[in-house]
Amino acid sequence: MDNILNEALVEGIKVSNGGSVATYIPELAKGDPKDVGFAMMDLEGNLFTRGEYLKRFTLQSITKVISLLLALEDNGMEEVFRYVHMEPTGDPFNSIMSFEVKNPEKPFNPMINAGAMVVTSLIKGEGKKEKISRILEFTSLLTGNEKTVYDEKVYLSEKETGDRNRSLAYFMKSTGIMKGNPEETLDLYFMQCSILGNCLDIATIGAVLAGNGIHPVTGERVLKKENARIVKTIMTTCGMYDASGEFAVSCGIPAKSGVGGGILGAVPGRYGIGTFGPTLDRKGNSTAGIRIMEYLSKKLDLSIF
Ligand code: GLN
Repeated sequence: MDNILNEALVEGIKVSNGGSVATYIPELAKGDPKDVGFAMMDLEGNLFTRGEYLKRFTLQSITKVISLLLALEDNGMEEVFRYVHMEPTGDPFNSIMSFEVKNPEKPFNPMINAGAMVVTSLIKGEGKKEKISRILEFTSLLTGNEKTVYDEKVYLSEKETGDRNRSLAYFMKSTGIMKGNPEETLDLYFMQCSILGNCLDIATIGAVLAGNGIHPVTGERVLKKENARIVKTIMTTCGMYDASGEFAVSCGIPAKSGVGGGILGAVPGRYGIGTFGPTLDRKGNSTAGIRIMEYLSKKLDLSIF
């Protein structure tokens, strides 16, 4: 096992210069390609780590898993999927054109930006303040890390430059699928995307999903089994955006990436995996993270297929 973990890190470092850090959210451009690491947690809470696994980064789209889980726990499956489909897209995560042309009545799935914003608007709470507190508390429940916070600078950076997401939100207001004030939902979505975490945190969330909702460290049930199942399925089909098909073949692990450089993986019945490497490929997925996941999957026979 030790050799496999060492090699996985070497593989990740090798490709970490092969992409570029996200620059469309200016604060993310500060990521250092040398910061590569990962954590793997089994269902008893045993931990296997290498590299910069404690380095914190903003979870970005990985929080789409968290908000979907919370919206499902709050509202149930039927209600949530009245507002969003569960179909993969062959398009980038922030595509406007495909949404309007192909399927304007509701977003394709909860893992692309439009779908995630609608899902976030369904989270229960009086106003933005209570809703963000509930998202932070729920993240703490899943990670076991009591002090979940969001990065104010990254939040403000995205709020200032997030015109594409603003367009998507207002488009959805115009079609009637997004209820309430779009500015409030956008703000909440930007805060949510800026939540800070490390590989250990996301590996723990992965292990909760891998264990059908049982927390690997406390042994407590923190999610309905059904909701863990739904989210793992959607991660498999949509979690790596328009690279989900290729990732399913090369790796076969239900996973969700974020432009902050993290990837959360859940190997049913076995492990949660969290990887980090800030440089991204053209589709917005961490180059090092993909390589590490693929390596671990091959060596430890983790593909679900
Ligand atoms: N906050 C980012 C955005 O909305 C999240 C995208 C991502 O991580 N893929 O553009």
